[in-house]
Amino acid sequence: MKINHLQLQGFRNYGQVALSFHEGCNVIYGENAQGKTNLLEAMVYLACGKSPRAHSDKELIGFSEDMARLCGVIETREREFKTEITLQRGRRRKMTVNGVTAKNSAALSDVLHTVFFSPEDLYLIREGAAARRRFMDISLCQLRPRYAEALTEFNRLYEHKTRILRDSEENPQLLSMLPDFNERLIHVGAVLIGYRAKFCAALAEHAAQAHEECSGGRETLQLHYQTVKTVEDAFAPHAELVQSLRRHQEEHYHAEIASRLCLSGPHKDDIEVLVNDRSARQFCSQGQVRTAALALKLAEREIHKNAIGEYPVMLLDDVLSELDVKRQEYVLNRIAGGQIFITCCENDRLEALEAGKVFHIQNGEVL
Ligand code: ATP
Ligand code: MG
Repeated sequence: MKINHLQLQGFRNYGQVALSFHEGCNVIYGENAQGKTNLLEAMVYLACGKSPRAHSDKELIGFSEDMARLCGVIETREREFKTEITLQRGRRRKMTVNGVTAKNSAALSDVLHTVFFSPEDLYLIREGAAARRRFMDISLCQLRPRYAEALTEFNRLYEHKTRILRDSEENPQLLSMLPDFNERLIHVGAVLIGYRAKFCAALAEHAAQAHEECSGGRETLQLHYQTVKTVEDAFAPHAELVQSLRRHQEEHYHAEIASRLCLSGPHKDDIEVLVNDRSARQFCSQGQVRTAALALKLAEREIHKNAIGEYPVMLLDDVLSELDVKRQEYVLNRIAGGQIFITCCENDRLEALEAGKVFHIQNGEVL
């Protein structure tokens, strides 16, 4: 899929712009605070009706404007679609696809998928397990409705169990409910582990390839799914996963009551990230962290492509800084397939661009 044309009016610092894009690589450059990220933000909004950085839609409307309009002409499944969104102060937003009112953002995602990478995504490598779990959960929820259901159920049961444990000091009879909650958590937990194991395996394969190519064959990236200790094989059939989880739960039954904390279950899952066999979180340089995070996002894009049959549009905000010339050349020219948007500050890096289109943005205008 690709964005052929984009029109903005009163969106962030844009007055009126109409842009036509290249089917491959599009580079958007300009000084700081000129509107590069705003442009990518508009594309994400067209894809999912949600900004990756604004808390409310009001922030997206130009400071001196009453309304903002976004219009994208998108090509997918060999057809063209027109997605239009109007945001107005104090009114509900209007969204249409080919003139038909879109009830929710799912109708937008039907037409356009984006994978957005920004400097904030370096948290994927630098931060603790929660960041990588969130990445897994968000991606899997988009791809697998059954996973989304299981996750909602798991979180509900988990919160309830946490409350039982917490309040059991004052109210010991609450503990009689615990075995039932444990059993239900074990079953739904096994569903999560099954999906996560497969997702991580696919992610590991694609990310390793991307990282190797980007680093010119100098570095290896390995990803390992980490879950409950008693699970020796996360690909085992559901019934076997249930048994392993039950064993872990039984071993920790008394410890949970004593500490009043949930100690057993996949709520602490992680993806271990190794670059050249060492923990990326502890030992990676800035450029390596950027390369590894980019590799994860490129792998996510491959997984989405396999699920929907087309490459989603890839939006890379400010990835080139901190990468050496060879890695920049990879990002500009050798990310295979699909449409890509890249923002950067200087145009001197762009001599390496072999094919594509370059846009110079200044103060919300395209020069
Ligand atoms: P950098 O290279 O620093 O990342 P950028 O080109 O990506 O810069 P943007 O994040 O796109 O910059 O923001 C550009 C400008 O848009 C900022 O100066 C900001 O003040 C302005 N801006 C943000 N929201 C609005 C709004 N609702 N109305 C008008 N201007 C806005
Ligand atoms: Mg920016």
